Amino acid sequence: MHGQMMDMPLLISSLIVHADRHHGDAEIVTQTVEGPIHRYTYRDAHTRSRRLASALEKLGVKHGDRIGTLAWNTHRHMEVYYAVAGMGAVCHTINPRLFPEQIAYIANHAEDSYLFFDLTFVPLVEKLQEHLKTVKGLVVMTDKAHMPASLPDATCYEELLDSGSSDYAWPQFDERTASSLCYTSGTTGNPKGVLYQHRSTILHAYAECMPDALGLSAADAVLPVVPMFHVNAWGLPYSCAMAGAKLVFPGAGMDGASLHELMETEKVTVSAGVPTIWMGLLAHLKQNNAKFSTLSRTVIGGSACPPAMIRSFEEDYGVHVLHAWGMTEMSPLGTVCTFKNKHQDLDNEQKLALLNKQGRVLFGVDMKIVDADGKELPWDGKAFGDLLVRGPWILSEYYRSEGGNPMRKDEAGNDWFPTGDVATIDPDGYMQITDRSKDVIKSGGEWISSIDLENTAVAHPAVAEAAVISAAHPKWDERPLLIVVKKEGQDVSRDELLKFYEGKVAKWWIPDDVLFVDKLPHTATGKLLKTKLREDYGDHKLPTA
Ligand code: AMP
Repeated sequence: MHGQMMDMPLLISSLIVHADRHHGDAEIVTQTVEGPIHRYTYRDAHTRSRRLASALEKLGVKHGDRIGTLAWNTHRHMEVYYAVAGMGAVCHTINPRLFPEQIAYIANHAEDSYLFFDLTFVPLVEKLQEHLKTVKGLVVMTDKAHMPASLPDATCYEELLDSGSSDYAWPQFDERTASSLCYTSGTTGNPKGVLYQHRSTILHAYAECMPDALGLSAADAVLPVVPMFHVNAWGLPYSCAMAGAKLVFPGAGMDGASLHELMETEKVTVSAGVPTIWMGLLAHLKQNNAKFSTLSRTVIGGSACPPAMIRSFEEDYGVHVLHAWGMTEMSPLGTVCTFKNKHQDLDNEQKLALLNKQGRVLFGVDMKIVDADGKELPWDGKAFGDLLVRGPWILSEYYRSEGGNPMRKDEAGNDWFPTGDVATIDPDGYMQITDRSKDVIKSGGEWISSIDLENTAVAHPAVAEAAVISAAHPKWDERPLLIVVKKEGQDVSRDELLKFYEGKVAKWWIPDDVLFVDKLPHTATGKLLKTKLREDYGDHKLPTA
């Protein structure tokens, strides 16, 4: 017997319709690529998204067509999100920080029919265009006055929008329809496409708004630093519309000074980004003796947030850190570290210690850790193994995948997605990432967590950034090698750093050597590029070898 409730598909267009009707005057503020601040409302965004959808329809864009973007976090990018998905096409966000060959591979693999891009990426598109096999038209996301002379055949975004009608009515279709596409920049092999649905996107947005997730509300002003080309800015353009929160887009201004100014002038209450971004912001605050007047919480994820950073936000700036974990394949949110009722009486240090964990799952996601034979490991906070997840916003297979299905089946026949992360889970269900399985250091058959060693190093006052990789060792196979970038104007020696580890980690975990470098390589999404570090320093001759 079916229940007797209205059968309405969960569609992305309903988010912007809702935001228009119920939060129509809530602001969307953008630091534009052209320079000035742009300010309008959800109502305006909805009108313009419908215009764009109508214009795309006139161009011949059909249900299921892929539309590529190379763009920063701006109101125009948000309009593309809603117009393209809303009409039943697929918004394919491409990470402009990838190598041009990878971008061409991705656009061709996705068979993008149009490519939308910001002015910043005109030189990139000039180089790319002859390699784009399926792209029928280029659209520069700017107005007529800023159109680049170097791309005479490209369409101007504002002119395209003018050709559409705001009478466009959002079509209704199956909620399992694909809505957006994002390729993960794996460190080996070709990037792999993750194809999100309307249904998965709406369910993820609900979960993201929950109090034990990001707790988004209409009272918030949210600044997503995490790019809209990285897992849809962690879903914030959707969840903010659901909550009716003010949105503040930083455009290309990701440096500490620009972010801080925008946060202050727009009275931002919530922000979200990877630790590298916050490193820049915290350094700026310190140098200028500045504070936050309105920021109350910040979501940090994408790689492990060093405890020293959590402490600094909490104690120096009164900003609560929401340590979150997820991945492109998970839309991305899996866990957030928030307290339970039983934790209210913990003292400050105990609370800080708990915040170092990546946290508990949101309803909808389930997780488990398994050993090499696939046997589930205990939730004792000590045993660590491969982390597997399942849920309605977790990938079931890669888009047009060549590598086969990655899923692992359990005894009941359920699929679990292997995250590639190694983790512990404690009796309260708090998960802590130990490492990427490829990065864990295998010393004499025992595992050492590179993340733990990095976190300890960055707690030293002279250390700006640290990476720990395995270096070859004749007796132990692998031993940890610490690679450090010092803070400007600060000094510390190899021996001082090694001594700093004493009492903080097991003796046999202490790195065998330290190298000082000017900067560390990062991936296109701001993570430490350990493959490159291993290539460069993996055969470093350890003094213990
Ligand atoms: P991406 O698909 O680019 O978002 O990368 C996902 C991967 O980033 C995860 O599988 C983790 O290895 C890593 N990651 C994300 N969030 C965290 C976190 N809070 N702590 C440690 N690693 C993280």
